[in-house]
Amino acid sequence: MASFDYDLFVIGGGSGGVRSGRLAAAMGKKVAIAEEFRYGGTCVIRGCVPKKLYVYASQFAEHFEDAEGFGWTVGESTFDWKKLVAAKDKEITRLEGLYQKGLANAGAEILHTRAELAGPNTIKLLDSGKTVTAERIVIAVGGHPSAHDALPGNELCISSNEAFDLPELPKSIVIAGGGYIAVEFANIFHGLGVETTLIYRGKEILSRFDQDMRRGLHAAMEQKGIRILCEDLIQSVSKNVDGKLVAETMKHGALTADQVMLALGRMPNTKGLGLEAAGVAVNERGAIIIDAFSRTSAPGVYALGDVTDRVQLTPVAIHEAMCFIETEYKGNPTSPDHDLIATAVFSQPEIGTVGLSEDEAAKKFEDLEIYRAEFRPMKATLSGRSEKTIMKLVVNAVDRKVLGAHILGHEAGEMAQLLGITLKTGCTKDDFDRTMAVHPTASEELVTMYNPSYRIKNGERIG
Ligand SMILES: Cc1cc2nc3c(=O)[nH]c(=O)nc-3n(C[C@H](O)[C@H](O)[C@H](O)COP(=O)(O)OP(=O)(O)OC[C@H]3O[C@@H](n4cnc5c(N)ncnc54)[C@H](O)[C@@H]3O)c2cc1C
Repeated sequence: MASFDYDLFVIGGGSGGVRSGRLAAAMGKKVAIAEEFRYGGTCVIRGCVPKKLYVYASQFAEHFEDAEGFGWTVGESTFDWKKLVAAKDKEITRLEGLYQKGLANAGAEILHTRAELAGPNTIKLLDSGKTVTAERIVIAVGGHPSAHDALPGNELCISSNEAFDLPELPKSIVIAGGGYIAVEFANIFHGLGVETTLIYRGKEILSRFDQDMRRGLHAAMEQKGIRILCEDLIQSVSKNVDGKLVAETMKHGALTADQVMLALGRMPNTKGLGLEAAGVAVNERGAIIIDAFSRTSAPGVYALGDVTDRVQLTPVAIHEAMCFIETEYKGNPTSPDHDLIATAVFSQPEIGTVGLSEDEAAKKFEDLEIYRAEFRPMKATLSGRSEKTIMKLVVNAVDRKVLGAHILGHEAGEMAQLLGITLKTGCTKDDFDRTMAVHPTASEELVTMYNPSYRIKNGERIG
């Protein structure tokens, strides 16, 4: 039998890589993990974690304004961008340390280097030039923001990577994209006092979400003062004599701003990874092709997380890693379950969602009941803020199963987590109706919408 330097070699120290490396090492396997940038990966270093910290930072201006309605007099407030960046750096460095500690405690060998495949079961470590072998290899190298090479002047633009660490807070920004990253950053920058324009080629932002959430958030963002230009795109970017950036758009002329941010999708980090040498096949986007158990086309090589083009979220990468461990080291073949993933958009207000949107459900089911509530949250009564919360349940009229639950409003992400459990257990609308409300909350609306707002029969709205 062939002998290898390692039982498992993991390429990439992000969400999926660290979890697979740590769990295998804790089982006594000989594990090495290589990371070329910083442990923690996208989520910890330049994704979910710093993003959420910046969302918190951006909400204070509204909190200060709202406080007046509750009797407070808030003194003059100022915001220091450099202080926020430094505080964020301290926190992500702490988390990076925890990730490495977890690996070290489990007994994994932690390498700070780029690693590439050099042949079957063989990995090249770029810092030393050394080649090592492993019985199994996990590729968890994630992705990077698309640079949109076809756009003239794209080198003048930033991506989410740079947005976290800008030397100065811009006075104005144009953000291109309509996905959750573009939308979240538009809210962050606006909340921090930056004049913000969002430009998106589609009809409405957040294409994969329920229409009510998309329209409701669009309206709320515009009401706050974020300019949203749909069905338009940037055709070129240049620098003017004042050093400002000028984004020429198809329909809205020239937009001048301090920064232009491109949030136009993410590409898998597979370039130059030596995949051909090991016989690992990729799709037309460069994402690694895997089977239901995260096995690639090369024996002993597995891929998980963002590099595989499944669902690009941290808990999904972690779940795929845990399934890999179950399958390969615990003799319990487990295929990742991508059904009913609860998720949030950390916009302001937030979106929390799980299951099918109304449109998706209408394509799959003949008879639907839609329960919908739109109301002013209690806090807004005294703060005077004219914002709306929207809640919606999509129910299969035939068996009463709740197919989708969608919320636009404060703490919608927190609510989505709990709704995720509910839908995963196959809950019916009758179960919702039997549940006592928690009063006074916004979420009590979810269990008190007794009558359908309208029905959808064979794709047609009734009522
Ligand atoms: C701005 C932003 C906000 C996000 N917000 C959320 C959110 O709110 N919720 C959520 O669930 N998800 C969010 N995500 C997505 C989430 O970050 C990813 O889905 C998750 O990090 C994927 O984990 P991964 O292990 O596949 O890859 P990653 O976490 O990207 O880790 C891959 C690692 O591999 C390293 N690497 C690459 N090539 C090599 C090589 N050849 N050798 C060694 N190391 C290598 C990289 O440096 C990186 O550290 C966000 C992403 C972004 C960009």
